[in-house]
Amino acid sequence: MSAVVEDTRTVAISQAVVNAMIAHAQREAPKECCGLLVGSAGRVDENVATRNIAGTPETRYEVDPREHIALNRTLRGSGREVVGVYHSHPRGPARPSPTDVAEAFYPDFIYVIVSMEQASHADVRAFEIVAGHANELTIVRAPILRSFRSS
Ligand SMILES: [Zn+2]
Repeated sequence: MSAVVEDTRTVAISQAVVNAMIAHAQREAPKECCGLLVGSAGRVDENVATRNIAGTPETRYEVDPREHIALNRTLRGSGREVVGVYHSHPRGPARPSPTDVAEAFYPDFIYVIVSMEQASHADVRAFEIVAGHANELTIVRAPILRSFRSS
């Protein structure tokens, strides 16, 4: 049973990042892929693929904590940070499983799930998971601003 509550919060994720997460999910199937999301508050501008070190990667995911620590170190002082984590459900829907909810240790994180359940199209959804409840966030397909022009 899932307790997904509609929420009006949004997260901006570019189509390029969405496409990269789908491609990663396709590469790893039938195992779950996982990785970290980099950006700033309410905004994801990069996904960083990590190893899935779960003992049963067909049904679970666990980001290698050493890769998480190394990425935090790389980003220090850059104004960008790890804002979330993504993983795939090769055969399940794009909703947090009970295990995903139980093991969501970061209330500030954006949790993105890429479902490959429908062969014709991947379903990508974002959630926040706080105190055992998953709230879906609306994904805004924002372009990435790589440079700023003066106006
Ligand atoms: Zn999951």
